[in-house]
Amino acid sequence: ERKAAIESATGPGATSDGHKVPLLANVGGPADVPAAVEAGAEGVGLFRTEFLFLDDSERAPSEAKQVEAYRQVLEAFPEGRVVVRVLDAGADKPLEFLTPADEPNPALGVRGLRTLLDHPEVLRGQLSALAKAAEGLPVYLEVMAPMVADRTDAKAFADACREAGLHAKFGAMVEIPSAALRARSVLQEVEFLSLGTNDLAQYTFAADRQVGAVSRLQDPWQPALLDLVAVSAEAAKAEGKSCGVCGEAAADPLLACVLTGLGVTSLSMGSSAIPIVRAQLAKHTLAQCERAAAAARAADTGPDARAAAQAVLSGE
Ligand code: PEP
Ligand code: MG
Repeated sequence: ERKAAIESATGPGATSDGHKVPLLANVGGPADVPAAVEAGAEGVGLFRTEFLFLDDSERAPSEAKQVEAYRQVLEAFPEGRVVVRVLDAGADKPLEFLTPADEPNPALGVRGLRTLLDHPEVLRGQLSALAKAAEGLPVYLEVMAPMVADRTDAKAFADACREAGLHAKFGAMVEIPSAALRARSVLQEVEFLSLGTNDLAQYTFAADRQVGAVSRLQDPWQPALLDLVAVSAEAAKAEGKSCGVCGEAAADPLLACVLTGLGVTSLSMGSSAIPIVRAQLAKHTLAQCERAAAAARAADTGPDARAAAQAVLSGE
């Protein structure tokens, strides 16, 4: 019993009946790795590479600098997965040399993958630095694109990865409702999905993530958001592929159980949330998580969805 208690405090993420849900860390670079290791992260589920690009307003970091940073993160998880997101510039993360200055609605403009497709040399540079960084390492590298809207976007990204000779799994972030609704079509081009619930909420509710006045609509418990998570996870299951979550939603322990119940296959979060999410998940069976997810989706508001899930999970 003591061994089981220690396992659930430090071991791999799983429900009480042993359904595995890998708990991964969101990192911005090598500086975040020690906290991830300390928290017992099973790998990295979101490496936000844009932090590397912030030092120079005129150009991308040199290949040597990129290789070094990528390698440090990859080396920290020799047995684990590392999911690297290619540059997500624009909107809330503008980069002077890449982001158009005159857009009336930057969140709806050229950002994320759209920026990289307009500047293919930046994407090529990143992919080739990643290929070099992973050389000779046993790590299981996965690379994903932010802001994929449809199958055409997913194909453009997968083509760029293949052209760069990258030995990795290619994936798409689901941050735009169109990608969730047509997830099966997106999955014809890529091998996994990762839900970015911060942007998915922003685009589902037409509520700017930087505007506090509309924060009610940024609540990831909103049933419409849960529906889009469910649609994506079901599509991935039908295609025999994985569908993780790497937005802030994964860091809410109760919501983590609901996401698991919706069919999400891994959860990636800021490292500090990993222990509490691990502990909460270990308290419930998969069937209980599924019941909590169904109760949450049956509600009409975010607060009601949370209360309904809470009632199911605490009434056991
Ligand atoms: C998201 O949008 O949920 C996400 C994980 O990406 P970011 O917060 O970096 O936009
Ligand atoms: Mg995002």
